[in-house]
Amino acid sequence: MPFVRVALDVPVDEAFDYRADDASADDVGRLVVVPFGRGRKVGVVVEVTTQSAIEARRIRAVARIARDLPRLPEATLDLFRFCARYYHHPLGETVLNALPTALRRPDGAALATRSEYVRTAEGEQRTVADLPVRAHAQRALFGAFATEPVLTPTRLRAGGPAARRALGALMARGWVMEREAVAAQAESVPPAVTAAAGPEPTPEQRAAVDAVTATLGSFQCHLLHGVTGSGKTEVYLRLIEAVARRGEQTLLLVPEINLTPQLEARLADRLGSERLAILHSGLAEGERLERWLRAVRGDALVVAGTRLAVFTPLPRLGLIIVDEEHDGSYKQQEGLRYSARDVAVFLGKQRGAAVILGSATPSLESWQQARNQRYRLLQLPSRAASNPPAIRTVETRGVTLAEGLAPPLVEAIGQTLARAEQSLVFVNRRGFAPTLLCHECGWIAPCHRCSARLTLHSAGRRLRCHYCGHDESIPRSCPSCGNQDLRALGAGTQRIEQALAALFPKARIARIDRDSTRRKRAFHELRERIEAHDLDILVGTQMLAKGHDFPRLTLVGVLGADNGLLAADFRAEERLFALLLQVAGRAGRAALPGHVLIQTEFPQHPLFQALIAQDFAGFAQVQLDQRQAGAFPPFLHQALLRAEATQEAQVFEVLEEARRQGHPLAEGITLYDPVPALMPKVAGKWRGQLLIQSPSRNALHAFLDNWWPRIGSKRVRMSIDVDPQDF
Ligand code: ADP
Ligand code: ZN
Ligand code: ZN
Repeated sequence: MPFVRVALDVPVDEAFDYRADDASADDVGRLVVVPFGRGRKVGVVVEVTTQSAIEARRIRAVARIARDLPRLPEATLDLFRFCARYYHHPLGETVLNALPTALRRPDGAALATRSEYVRTAEGEQRTVADLPVRAHAQRALFGAFATEPVLTPTRLRAGGPAARRALGALMARGWVMEREAVAAQAESVPPAVTAAAGPEPTPEQRAAVDAVTATLGSFQCHLLHGVTGSGKTEVYLRLIEAVARRGEQTLLLVPEINLTPQLEARLADRLGSERLAILHSGLAEGERLERWLRAVRGDALVVAGTRLAVFTPLPRLGLIIVDEEHDGSYKQQEGLRYSARDVAVFLGKQRGAAVILGSATPSLESWQQARNQRYRLLQLPSRAASNPPAIRTVETRGVTLAEGLAPPLVEAIGQTLARAEQSLVFVNRRGFAPTLLCHECGWIAPCHRCSARLTLHSAGRRLRCHYCGHDESIPRSCPSCGNQDLRALGAGTQRIEQALAALFPKARIARIDRDSTRRKRAFHELRERIEAHDLDILVGTQMLAKGHDFPRLTLVGVLGADNGLLAADFRAEERLFALLLQVAGRAGRAALPGHVLIQTEFPQHPLFQALIAQDFAGFAQVQLDQRQAGAFPPFLHQALLRAEATQEAQVFEVLEEARRQGHPLAEGITLYDPVPALMPKVAGKWRGQLLIQSPSRNALHAFLDNWWPRIGSKRVRMSIDVDPQDF
């Protein structure tokens, strides 16, 4: 008697056995609905067997095997198995979280039994002529079977009530019957590619395209290092076309913020919108499912999406592109803590597909892989259609700032306004001011649920926590000493917007941050206003740093860059450099020359020197030398054991215990002492961690395989973070 072994969305490592009398090996990878506890769950069959270790009378039967939906191919199941193992996460959660939400609802429409209609054996013998002359609707419907042997309920609904009545009559005659739908097995044939022509590629673009084209059909990872505006997207488009002409699919991964209607339009323009499946978080459930299905059936030749899209099963995968590969949003920070970039490289290897990692500021991990020849380095050193922006620093030490703005920046904004061009003032802090301070006693408004300071909002009338969302009105006086003169310290986007409005009363100013773009389409509308030159000055956070192309934007001013220099993380400088070069890259993207002014107290700092020279390679060299000398990634591999609980002592007890357990197993491994997380308390939960490190990736994983199953606690949530990005 066959059993199916089902991966379910529950936090245990095992799959669950169910009875399925009609199951066959062909059902591996299919979605199933199964009873679970007192409810039902959706799962995926990972194995069909004839034996189960579970007592026969305790095994329940599968409720339904969804044979009308495409099954997950073996390669996709293997990818999930790899991720579950590599990231030390339960397979069931790994698989189920990668599916569209609509497919995870056991009682949802997507998994409901679907019928379809076909002719019976008798019906096959009949023709329309056998029906009464006046039975128009029956004749029309029966006639349709001659060309479409299977009619779906959707197709019937299109015929209205008359078609429904005719169907009933044909079934009563015994000519037509209803049966449970099955998925079409044959892959549909890809449509021919008739792309609109793009611009003539530059010789550098051509060389990059040729280099990748030469490797199509087998695995090779390319690192495309192209300065901002160098035309990386153009290289992607040409390659996507080449891959589509081979009848193969491209997976294009982008950071959330880059999935702009602009990119969508550009792709649709070149490839036709019917060949695209764009997957982003703003989609309605049904829409996402429909696009996912087109991708899985091989109908969509380009599947573009954010990190989760890396798990879309693509039957004819030929090329994987990871745009802005250095971007932090590729790393998921909860559940399966995967890096979509790293999974993409694994996927390319597994499927024998070419991979392109593109960036103006590659991650040092990828840069090192290029230096040691594992990845092929392709360079686009100059802008395709404009000149590089001129970058300089503005020293703020000992200078009185007008609400955070140094005089040279104010002056430059004035000149830009006079030329009827646009300025962007970049402040990577939303809100009015990051701190409310008592000058008498040094009290700083804290969040009582987090180890964070509260941020002032709404022109300084509200206090809000950016970690847990807590919101309160500002106190009338210092809760600690009673002083009534509490001051806003530092400047966020709201305060800078206000200051600029006072300095340039005639200018049209807009603030672009998470607060001002909360409403759906708000960001889109702001972008349109920028493009229409309906705005003169933009004040924005990193939402505006990446990917955008605004032809009249010629001045970029950067405030608060020094905050990034002071961060404790060993990746702080790498991130700051990337962010600043990306922001600078927004200036002067068209015919007009661009200028970038960076306010800093440390203009001599090597990071700013490298930035002025726009010398990524030089910067990377220095950073990598430091990392090597100090034994940091990428010269070493890390994992974190994270723990979280309502009581601080519990966190450290379990971490200490885990360390004791790990000690005898740690061969070729360094196990550090438990320490508080960088943000030790968030929303009432204390967080601690333990760093595990090794020069050998294999040794690290062998240790985790051995250690992780032995540790656990009922009261403390623990997780493993492999290749952690945040501490
Ligand atoms: P990146 O993705 O590297 O920042 P884009 O692909 O967005 O750069 O290109 C920047 C600008 O240069 C765009 O406006 C694009 O249309 C233009 N561009 C790209 N390649 C060419 C080319 N070969 N000839 C003319 N213009 C180009
Ligand atoms: Zn005080
Ligand atoms: Zn808080």
